[in-house]
Amino acid sequence: MRIGIIGAGQLGRMLARAGYPLGLGMRFLDTSPDSPGGQVGDIVLGTLDDRARIEELAADVDLLTFEVENVPAEALANVGPSTPFYPPMAALSTAQDRLSEKRLFDTLGIATTRYRTVDDRADLDAAIEELGLPCVLKTRRLGYDGRGQRFIRENADADAAFEAIGGVPLIAEEFVAFEREVSAIGVRSTSGEIAMYPLSENRHEDGILRVTTAPADDGALADAAADALRRIIEHFDYVGVLTVEFFVRDGALVANEMAPRVHNSGHWTIEGAMTSQFENHVRAIVGLPLGGTTARGHLAMVNFLGTMPDIAAVLAIPGTHYHDYGKSPRPGRKLGHCTIVARSRTTRDATLDAVRALL
Ligand code: AMP
Repeated sequence: MRIGIIGAGQLGRMLARAGYPLGLGMRFLDTSPDSPGGQVGDIVLGTLDDRARIEELAADVDLLTFEVENVPAEALANVGPSTPFYPPMAALSTAQDRLSEKRLFDTLGIATTRYRTVDDRADLDAAIEELGLPCVLKTRRLGYDGRGQRFIRENADADAAFEAIGGVPLIAEEFVAFEREVSAIGVRSTSGEIAMYPLSENRHEDGILRVTTAPADDGALADAAADALRRIIEHFDYVGVLTVEFFVRDGALVANEMAPRVHNSGHWTIEGAMTSQFENHVRAIVGLPLGGTTARGHLAMVNFLGTMPDIAAVLAIPGTHYHDYGKSPRPGRKLGHCTIVARSRTTRDATLDAVRALL
């Protein structure tokens, strides 16, 4: 069987590496043979919105999946029923637009931030009036890793924020003074089998994920997150891995956003779970039984942004695993990560400090 992956970034590369031991052929679509996926697999060269190249990929594989959200729906118009496409296109298009995402959360009874659409400067004043300050202004589409996002602390910040990211449809959200951020990763297979990973706790800086630790301790929060994921899974008749990021405010979950794909906050599952999120995504879409999602101890994941630390120095710290995505360095760019697997929380946290000291 051959799987086509739209996008050949690090997520695609890790998906392919999970598919090979299962005897699956993996083929990517992306712009460069030197992309992280292109370095480890076959690639069709084309942009994510190239309908003809997507058709070419579809014709050559048994089913299609994707590793990036910004594949325009129009580019998928010619993907016919003979090539199953997972996760469902409806989940993909919902996740592409922060407004449809919020509406979905509202419809499914999943608590989310208060928000208002902003299409012009006057809307922003109305939003500030309604939501109060501080608030966060975000582009509805194509925002990620802190891009397309501005915090507005006082009225005087509004002009600059609108200048910076206005001109496209926006959404303003209340600022959430959260205690913690967590993410939940679940998976459903074509046979309807569902599995949930333990909750991950995430630390972001400038909107970019820096560190994840897992399992995040909380029984009640994990149950609430699993309940939210199940609602989304049922709504879309979902197949594949699904991630939802939450703020924890006053001890309760407030959904921030969903990603219909494997997620950076689940990289710890490669060495730290019975079955990785990548392998379970592949198993789910080809209809194989899902693997266990239990954590193998106490885990952490540290992103390498902009520069890679010395590999020997990292691996000299017991319990670490080094991942280099094969990307050229650029400030702020995700180039790799380190996973820490430890028997106790104390050892995990000490190891995390030692790795962070190398960055
Ligand atoms: P996002 O692109 O929506 O995932 O935002 C990236 C990060 O920015 C989040 O993980 C938070 O750390 C922060 N952030 C985004 N929206 C809000 C908000 N409404 N209130 C507080 N922090 C936020």
